[in-house]
Amino acid sequence: MSVNIISRSQWGARPWATGTSTVPLSERTEFVVHYDGAVPISRTGTAIPRAIEAEHLGNGWSGIGYNWVISQAGEIFEGRGWDLQGAHCPNHNRSGFGVQIAVGGDQAPTDAALRAARELYDLACARTGRSLAKKGHRDGFATECPGSRLYVWVKAGMPAPGGSTSGGTSSAPKYPGWLVARGAKGATVRAIQQALGSRGYGSVLAPWGADGDFGAATERAVRAFQSAQHISADGVVGPVTWSRLFG
Ligand SMILES: [Zn+2]
Repeated sequence: MSVNIISRSQWGARPWATGTSTVPLSERTEFVVHYDGAVPISRTGTAIPRAIEAEHLGNGWSGIGYNWVISQAGEIFEGRGWDLQGAHCPNHNRSGFGVQIAVGGDQAPTDAALRAARELYDLACARTGRSLAKKGHRDGFATECPGSRLYVWVKAGMPAPGGSTSGGTSSAPKYPGWLVARGAKGATVRAIQQALGSRGYGSVLAPWGADGDFGAATERAVRAFQSAQHISADGVVGPVTWSRLFG
């Protein structure tokens, strides 16, 4: 698996201001997603980790508190990295890798950023040898972080978006021509689950998320979506439900 991580020296990080503690990979059990805060941001490139570093140094911390920061272009900047204890969520700084996706408020994350985050998650699972729990900051602390859009995505199972590498518009998938119902499996089911997740039904899909398996949770989410759309809540994805989901 090749994931390109921009090292601290590459983005011009300052030396750690105070001591940092190391954490063995065996202690890591969670992947905690953050956002930049309540205000939308427009920074790109190395300005992103530099601004966070300045803010966290201002808090009296050693430097940037996240293990990694991901830009909307999908760049991954190293913060505390694989080995150092984070400063991102009380009681989760050793067990959790803290990853900030650089959006604020209800700014939409790009596909490139979400795809990079998912690749980093998969790499973290491979390196720790376990399936890390997918969490948002608010799961461990009373905060709005990581914002509603990222939280829905986390609860949907952090699906990697398909389509082109740039953010924004991805064309809607075509209706497969058959009724998609309980028992179905595969990419079509995953696309439905991802669409449900992005429309706010991620919590109904939990804890399986977008696993490509149309089970009871997916049927519940489809029914809930259909009810909200005032169409027949049969839990089956036919052409009408499909067009509402992807239209
Ligand atoms: Zn946070």
